[in-house]
Amino acid sequence: MSVFSTEYSYQQLPEILFAKCQPTAVAAPEWLAFNHSLADELGIPAQYHASEAGLKLFSGNDLPEWCQPIAQAYAGHQFANYVPRLGDGRALLLAEVISNNGQRYDLQLKGAGPTPFSRGGDGRSPLGPVIREYLLSEAMHALGVPTTRALAAVSTGESVYRDEPQPGAILCRVAKSHIRIGTFQYVAALNDRQLLMEFTDYVINRHYPQCQSQPQPYLALLAAVIAAQAATVAHWMSLGFIHGVMNTDNMTISGETIDYGPCAFMEAYDEKAVFSAIDRRGRYAYGNQPAIALWNLTRLAEALLPLLHSDQQQAIALATSALEEFSSLYQHNYRQKMATKLGITAPAPEDDPLIARLLQLLQQDQVDFSLFFRQLSQQDPATAAELFNDKRNWQSWLNSWQVRTSEQSLTSEQRIIVMQQANPALIPRNHLVQRAITEATGHGDLSFFNELKNAWQHPFVSKPEYQPLTRPATAAERVNRTFCGT
Ligand code: AMP
Ligand code: MG
Repeated sequence: MSVFSTEYSYQQLPEILFAKCQPTAVAAPEWLAFNHSLADELGIPAQYHASEAGLKLFSGNDLPEWCQPIAQAYAGHQFANYVPRLGDGRALLLAEVISNNGQRYDLQLKGAGPTPFSRGGDGRSPLGPVIREYLLSEAMHALGVPTTRALAAVSTGESVYRDEPQPGAILCRVAKSHIRIGTFQYVAALNDRQLLMEFTDYVINRHYPQCQSQPQPYLALLAAVIAAQAATVAHWMSLGFIHGVMNTDNMTISGETIDYGPCAFMEAYDEKAVFSAIDRRGRYAYGNQPAIALWNLTRLAEALLPLLHSDQQQAIALATSALEEFSSLYQHNYRQKMATKLGITAPAPEDDPLIARLLQLLQQDQVDFSLFFRQLSQQDPATAAELFNDKRNWQSWLNSWQVRTSEQSLTSEQRIIVMQQANPALIPRNHLVQRAITEATGHGDLSFFNELKNAWQHPFVSKPEYQPLTRPATAAERVNRTFCGT
């Protein structure tokens, strides 16, 4: 029997970091989705599970006394431009929940009305972005990527006005915390070393307690965040995930993927792939993601400088040496992921050219990234040949791969298992997400949303009934542009 346990540790921090704020009630909330297994992990009492009491809670219409909502302050670089005050403009932290295994999680409502950080926005969210975030964040979790989760989604019965009126909705998001690089930027800009130290100690204690016993805890924190981000972004890259809006306020300290706005899964392999309608110059293109992660981490390092050393030059030298680790950490994680996709369980740097030659071929022949790797994982990898025009180079690559995999101790049956666990049969293809959004928004039909939600819980299993979800979009179905959640 689990005990439901809530805490409010963020509110113990100085008040300049947050604002107490209540949700604004909505007209006629109705259930869109409730995540029972996540609720069980968190120990959310059964009375809130897809019930009337739950609807009141997750719409923000009537919060139980264990919710003590605040909006968090943060700053951030948006497309490289610094904005000193962003903050939760359409989100409210309700409480911190201690899960059954002792992990602390934030429960946050997204779209529950304006806050002191709304900057003229309405604090609301249309249904489409709520559906997208629910589907994508849960699919990413099932794919094994560190991510925020979706606990509940409700429609509001009210319209949200963007270019045109759209049905409104509210998501309940769960994260190890919502502390971002932008939160550190906000604190650092206050120019109060004592406050920066207090906040950083809080973050170390919450996320990286092992740093406390290091000779230089603040430098150790920077190194830990660098390692976490390197691993997460390498995982994205190995799945063809494009975040789309890697602003510093959208990068968590925990390393969890956050803010599923204009994100998309790449179909045809393309280093330059961009989907986000607002990313006109391709700053956040697929292939730029590791470099942008490092750029963002450099902003974190700058924020931490006053804690790294009393002499600024020495502080910069320490930060620089920590940042220099990113590249090898990323490369190590990426090689590990990509090699596993190829059934190579003990990769070495010599495997890099094999991976690079394959990606070159995929790019040249515009081969669907996920479909290719799944086909290569089947009993007869040569079927993947049909995906290539350049048969000669494909055959040559296949030969090298077969030589490399035959050097390993795995039997071919074992290799197939390893590969199928690394190469999803199902990814959240853009046109499928779009269809779920269109049907839900257009005529309140949630059946396709529900089908995707169920299918994407088991992305590494091939089931005949989900076969239609495995293929890439046809030219007519293809969705080339995605939009922010606002
Ligand atoms: P995002 O694009 O979700 O990363 O949001 C960037 C900033 O804009 C954050 O400070 C958000 O809280 C704020 N924001 C986005 N949408 C809205 C909205 N509808 N109302 C108020 N603030 C918003
Ligand atoms: Mg954001």
